[in-house]
Amino acid sequence: MTEGYCVKCKSKREMSEAKEVTMKGKGGTERRAMKGKCPMCSTTMFRIMGAKK
Ligand SMILES: [Zn+2]
Repeated sequence: MTEGYCVKCKSKREMSEAKEVTMKGKGGTERRAMKGKCPMCSTTMFRIMGAKK
């Protein structure tokens, strides 16, 4: 299960159809992120897979 924040619902939700994507940042850096959809309103959600906590 992957949680993301839906800006439309203004709450955390479990992403549906979550998959890992690579986002290119400035300076040639790459960031891993999870991309999915809000199960309630279908808004695209992102979760940056940064440093582990
Ligand atoms: Zn939503």
